[in-house]
Formats: sequence, structure tokens, C-alpha cells
Amino acid sequence: MPLPEDIEKLVRTIALKNALDHAGKAQFDAVVSKLIGSRPDVRAQIKPMMPDVRAAVQAVNALSQDAQRSMLEELAPGELEAAAAAKKQAAAQEKPPLPPLEGAVMGQVVTRFPPEPNGYPHIGHAKAAIIDEEYARMYGGRLILRFDDTNPLKEKLEYYEAIREGLAWLGVKPDVVKNTSDDINILHDYGKKLVALGGAYVCTCSQEKIHDLRGKGLPCECRDPAVDQQDRLGRLFSGSYGQNEAIIRFKGDMADQNTAMRDPTLFRIIEGEHPLLGSRIRIWPTYDFAAPVEDSLDGVTHAMRTKEYELRNALYFAILDRLSLRKPAMIEFSRLEFEGVPVSKRKIRPLIDDGTIKSWDDPRLPTLSAFRRRGFVPEAIRKFVLSLGITLAETKPPFESLEAFNRKIIDPMSMRLFFVRDPVLVEIAGAREMQVTLKNHPTDASLGSRQVRVGGAVYISGDDARAAKEGDEIRLIELYNVKIERIEKNDGNVSLIRASMGGDEIRQSMQKIQWIAKDDIVDFKVMIPKELYIGDRYNTNSLEIASGGAESFVSTLKPDARVQFVRFGFCRIDEGGDNIAILTHR
Ligand code: ATP
Ligand code: MG
Repeated sequence: MPLPEDIEKLVRTIALKNALDHAGKAQFDAVVSKLIGSRPDVRAQIKPMMPDVRAAVQAVNALSQDAQRSMLEELAPGELEAAAAAKKQAAAQEKPPLPPLEGAVMGQVVTRFPPEPNGYPHIGHAKAAIIDEEYARMYGGRLILRFDDTNPLKEKLEYYEAIREGLAWLGVKPDVVKNTSDDINILHDYGKKLVALGGAYVCTCSQEKIHDLRGKGLPCECRDPAVDQQDRLGRLFSGSYGQNEAIIRFKGDMADQNTAMRDPTLFRIIEGEHPLLGSRIRIWPTYDFAAPVEDSLDGVTHAMRTKEYELRNALYFAILDRLSLRKPAMIEFSRLEFEGVPVSKRKIRPLIDDGTIKSWDDPRLPTLSAFRRRGFVPEAIRKFVLSLGITLAETKPPFESLEAFNRKIIDPMSMRLFFVRDPVLVEIAGAREMQVTLKNHPTDASLGSRQVRVGGAVYISGDDARAAKEGDEIRLIELYNVKIERIEKNDGNVSLIRASMGGDEIRQSMQKIQWIAKDDIVDFKVMIPKELYIGDRYNTNSLEIASGGAESFVSTLKPDARVQFVRFGFCRIDEGGDNIAILTHR
């Protein structure tokens, strides 16, 4: 009894993939278990199929690897590249998990992620939040999400929400959510206490003077023991000073090699509407003061932050020392950056503010909402972040590495469909009208199939049309071969290709290309995000639009559907219903 056609094809596809993974020899057992894995309905009837499956595996093993590759390309377009990329990534994914935390006690680890709600969360925040969360879970501890909201001029409710949403999408689940501003009175008290203890002072010098003396390593008069600090403190908190007229400074060492210790600002006056507290609070702590005090009071055992704060560690611990507060351990890791994609609000915000980029989920941005919109999945981001570990190495990981993690996850769930950029019509003399069934996925039958009517003409992509030569025989994937008879040009551009029916044999050397039946094409666009910056300059060509056509089936897909346009790349159907998708990656 021969195998049903769909099963036969599937067996061959699986065997070919397995063979190419194992130096050209597929293993019978592996093929059977993969077959049952992708077609559970077959399990009950597998026994009588065994001899045929064995024969199919033997037939595949009898082929050269070149022939196997060629056959796989025809049976499952795009599969070869995907397999190669997956292999390359496999090594990276074998990395050990995060190293143990020094001094960690099971059940007693508390970590925190402290974003400032002054913009949308980006992939760098994902790195920090995921590492914080992984450690909390590793030790059965707690993760605190603390909105570090102590600058009313920069913070907005919209951003608190965006951060909450971003973390939820990532699957990061904090055990406690709080705001630094919740503790503003406590922070004021500690600030006053520090002044009373002689560990800080109110400075009324101008900003220029402070800057100047800091550069020279010299103290100002405000530091003089003769100055009545309690009087100044009283005036500061009762509103006698205006913005920039007084600050509280840490009493460090103005000659310290570490400039972070040259009497840094701990509190300043900011007139503005705080998103949660309105304008009733005017004296706001800096990050330098709020972070250590909050970490300590929140019970944080292991505080993690990026390496650029390294020089501020001395200040962090000095503040806790003077206030006799418990000290968390401090762990640094490198900032995540990619080549050409600055991962910092400082670099992103100006582009949004001046209208160059319209929204925070623009696919060129490294924000989490942009990654989501492009078609990245949160599991891929987590795996990628963990593969980086918590090294201090400043090397920028290639963006392709994140893509590889994502590809591996979305590959099995993405429908293989046809899109042709800059379409060119191919008229095929002698082609008869027929109906073909195209599988939506080479190995997963649950993704279904689609029926397409093909007559005497199909569209192919402009690139393929330009590459074609008269006399060539090319393979229209899963359809038939055609022979290029004549290439017609208009102003040097290919305007029409006349072809005839070709033979049946699929040769390795043949171009195998995607196509769309003439009556089945719908206008379709794909946004292609490119590098946002070239060097230090915004790349004005950072968003390319590929216009062309897709099979009409594509316009039935809902936003968020993932597809792999064969020989083009993985895409996510965008919101807005305008027959547009975004290229996730190749
Ligand atoms: P930005 O430059 O985007 O403003 P930030 O550090 O000022 O970054 P915060 O909201 O204060 O942004 O950051 C919250 C946490 O996320 C901090 O602990 C910070 O160390 C971490 N973080 C921010 N950017 C990155 C990054 N690129 N890589 C890793 N961690 C980051
Ligand atoms: Mg910040």
C-alpha cells in the first residue's frame, strides 16, 4: 500500500532535513518520531506505513547531498537557509545559565528594576529587567519594579503605562510594583538627616560656579562650617528659594580623583507637574540619592545596574554609610547596544520630538513596542539576553544574533506565502488552466493549505525578471518549469516575459522562484527597517518600502499574523488593514 501523497511528501521532507543534518544519512527512527510529532493523527496507522517510510528514507540516503539539498529546496522552500541559521545559533544557545549571585541565600534574594518613566522601554531595559527577574526566580526571591520618578519635567503617565505594558509583553512579572515618589517624604527626611549629620550641605552657588569649582577640585563657601545649614534647610523646604537657587550637595571630597565624589547634587528644586504628585512637591532627590536609599529600604539584596554607573558606586555606598543604612550588593553588567541601533532614550527621543519618527513603535526603533510590531517574540528576547550573560564586555552583539533566536521560534509557526516585489508578468504559452494546492508550511500540516487557480500568466519579482535570460528554464515553486522565450523591455526595464512550458525535471542549477497567478495578485507592501544611524547621523533611508503584490490569500490574514514570504523574509502583518507587513528579518 503506497503512502498517501501528503504523508509521502512530508516523510521525504523530514528525511531530507534529517539527512542534511547528519552528513547525508537520515536516521529511520528520527524520521518516524518527527513524522508523528508533526502529524499526530498518523500515529494510529503508522505500523502498515513503516515499510514505505523505510523505503523513502533509504531513497533519500541514496542521493548525494547536493541532490538532497535540491530536492529539499523544491519540497520546502526556505527550509535550507533556516536550517543553516538554526545550526549556527545552536552553539550560542548552549551557553550556561547566569552565574550564581555572590552571597545569595535561597528564598531571600530581592532584586529591583528601576526604570525612569521618561520614555518607552527598549531592548536595553529588557536586558536589565530579565536579568533582575531571572535572579529573583533562581533564588526563589522577589523582583521589585520601582518607577524611578523623581524628575517631574521628564516623566509622564503615558510612560509608566508603556513600561508596564512592555514588561507584561516580555513576560516579566514583578512581585512588587512601586514608585520612588511614593516615598518622597521619607526621602526628604533622610536628606535632612544627612545634612544634620554633617554629611551634606545646602549650596546656593550658581550652576556655572559649581561646574567651574568642580573642574578645579575646589570647595565653595557654602561648605564652610560657619554656614548655618539648619537655617538654609528650613528655607529650602519652606519654599524661599527658586529653581536653581539652592541644592543639597553631598559632602564628599572636591579633590577626589573620582569626580562623582566631588560634592554631587542630592536634591534640587524642580517646578513642574509630577504625573502622580502634581506640583505640591518641589524638592526632588537625584538618582544618586534616591537609588541607594530606596534600594536599602526596599530590602534589595542584589542591586544590578549598567557599567556606566561604576564610578558612582563609591557615592552609593558612602550615602548608605553616613545614614547607617543596610547596604545591598552591587553588580554591574554591560549596557546593551547594537551597531547602528542606539539603545538609549537620549538618542531616540530627539527623533520623536522633532517628528522625524512618528511613534515609539516605529519598526526602526529598539523599543519593545517596535520589536513586538516587527514580529519579534518575547521568548526570543529573553533567550538572547540570557545568552549574553552578565559580562562586563563592551562588545556589541550583532543584531543577527537576536534575529537568529527569533527565527528559530517563529519559523515553525510562520506560513510560507508568496510576495513578489516590483512584479513583472510572465505569459506562459501552452499553460493550461489548473488549480493547485499549496501547503502553508512544509512540515506542519496544521497550518493548512490554500488553493490557487493558475492560468496562462503569473507574476514574478522584478529581481527575478532582471536575472532571467532568454533560453533559461526556471522552476516556479510547487508549480512547473517554464522556459524563457523572450524578454521585452521598456526604457531598459523588463516589462514582460514570454515563456513556454518547460520540462518536468527539477535541476539543482535551476532558479526556483516564487510566483503569483495573474488573477490572484493583490497590491501589497512591506516595510523594511534599516539602520537608524550611520555613524552619528540619522539615516534618512532607514525605512525602505518594498511595493509589489501578494497572493490574495495574504489579504485575508489578520494583523499580527506571521508569514515567511518565500525568498524574501519573515514578516508580521501590520495593524491598519492596508495590505502592509513589516519585515521581521530575513
Ligand atoms: P537611557 O539611556 O535609555 O535613558 P537609562 O539608564 O537612563 O537609559 P532608566 O530608565 O534609568 O534608563 O534605566 C532603568 C534600568 O535599565 C537601569 O538599571 C539601567 O541600568 C538599565 N538599562 C538602561 N539601558 C540599558 C541598556 N542599554 N542595557 C542594559 N541595561 C540598561
Ligand atoms: Mg535614567
